Amino acid sequence: MESFKGFEKNLAVRGIFGEETEEVLKNLKVDFIWFGYMGVDDNDGHLMVNKRYLSSGSKEDIYLDIIHELCHVKQHMEGRDLFDPRYDYVDRPTEIEAYRYAVQEAKRIGLSSARIRQYLKTEWMSTEVLDRLIRNMDVNLEET
Ligand SMILES: [Zn+2]
Repeated sequence: MESFKGFEKNLAVRGIFGEETEEVLKNLKVDFIWFGYMGVDDNDGHLMVNKRYLSSGSKEDIYLDIIHELCHVKQHMEGRDLFDPRYDYVDRPTEIEAYRYAVQEAKRIGLSSARIRQYLKTEWMSTEVLDRLIRNMDVNLEET
């Protein structure tokens, strides 16, 4: 995919796929969807991206979402269930892992805790649920 140009050199992406990075990105199928933000298809693990979000979302949000979704691509490759119904969204191990990795990258690129919290809190998420997600991730997002 054109938009992934250079991504194979990105350290966060290499951290996910290691030596398979080029291969995975080259073969990653990307579909455009017309709702939501981004997601990974449960059946074949391809990436789904809302074109409108790509053109209107903040650059940092989009970047972190891609990192998050690439974690899911990897999890799918490992045969893990990305939509395990036994868990609520913010308690699901695959989500916590992907969020934690994205937050780590958000800190690395210099986003403040407040900005990261803003990134994490989607419109359907209450503050309580957001705090639960942050607790689950076991990351420090306190204001300093
Ligand atoms: Zn996710």
